[in-house]
Amino acid sequence: MLGPVILAASRSDRMRRLISAAPVTKQVVDRFIPGETVDQIVPIVRDLAGKGLELTMDVVGEDITTPEQAATARDAYLQLIERLRPLELGTRAEMSVKLSMFGQALPGGHELALANVRPVVEAATAIGTTVTLDAEDHTTLDSMFAIHEELRKDFPATGCVIQAYLFRTEADARRLAASGSRVRIVKGAYKEPASVAFQNKHEIDKAYVRVLRTLMEGEGYPMIGSHDPRIISVAQELARRAGRKLDEYEFQMLYGIRSDEHLRLAAEGHRMRVYTAYGTDWYGYFMRRLAEKPANLRFFVRSMVGKG
Ligand SMILES: Cc1cc2nc3c(=O)[nH]c(=O)nc-3n(C[C@H](O)[C@H](O)[C@H](O)COP(=O)(O)OP(=O)(O)OC[C@H]3O[C@@H](n4cnc5c(N)ncnc54)[C@H](O)[C@@H]3O)c2cc1C
Repeated sequence: MLGPVILAASRSDRMRRLISAAPVTKQVVDRFIPGETVDQIVPIVRDLAGKGLELTMDVVGEDITTPEQAATARDAYLQLIERLRPLELGTRAEMSVKLSMFGQALPGGHELALANVRPVVEAATAIGTTVTLDAEDHTTLDSMFAIHEELRKDFPATGCVIQAYLFRTEADARRLAASGSRVRIVKGAYKEPASVAFQNKHEIDKAYVRVLRTLMEGEGYPMIGSHDPRIISVAQELARRAGRKLDEYEFQMLYGIRSDEHLRLAAEGHRMRVYTAYGTDWYGYFMRRLAEKPANLRFFVRSMVGKG
């Protein structure tokens, strides 16, 4: 029950100022967002890749309000891609982008986001890798899927994300489970109303398994975004039943969460991709991580009371 309350409170400007300025916040943030600049993140990319892990890179900063900020966000990805080029990791280091950061919520936002994301996908393709479009709140998804479809005409490996908690997702999964598609399935991290989304964890987990079965039985490439041990073992079983080889699907987890499991799955021969976020505008990303696990919030509050 605490998760939706944290997500709702996180939209308040007062809360943002309070949390961002708290002296202890940065220490807790570092667990999930291991760098603020591209210089800080490149050694982390090298380290994770050296351990046999793959990466998807997210430059944080979804709450932009001007077209200039959207262009800055695009340039930050272009700079990152340039820095990845000499590492020659190919698809082992891909990008994850939030279209809101590229201007999707501004007037004329659909076209603006498409215009900003296209050069990023082009640049990623030029270094032999791909981009996945993250899923944000449900009001943004028609635009996200339309941009995904448009990008796939020129860059067929462009991926997208679907969220098990939404009622619409089973139909989206059926449409997307086609040859050549790359689809990440997650439970969903936003506060959504009961008119569009399951509210109960058990219902969400059941929906996740239904959607995952559709993806595994389909012809695309499923990317299982979850830390849930039950989901991981169900995914392995569904992959086995669908006759998929180890390189015909992959697991994805967030940096800083169940890191031992990242290494265990990679050591078993699975493709294991770590979603690695960096940047200065970490507030929205950080608050979703607090909302996912009440123990994170308790730890954070204890740190503030103890040291702040
Ligand atoms: C690679 C990746 C990409 C994602 N992309 C998106 C996206 O585009 N759109 C979107 O809406 N959501 C996205 N998410 C978030 C997702 O929707 C869930 O909110 C998040 O993954 C928690 O769900 P879970 O499947 O891990 O299961 P849960 O049942 O929430 O968690 C299972 C276990 O994992 C651990 N765990 C989970 N979350 C945390 C945490 N924050 N801190 C510490 N431990 C934790 C705990 O041990 C917990 O018991 C993404 C998640 C991943 C892994």
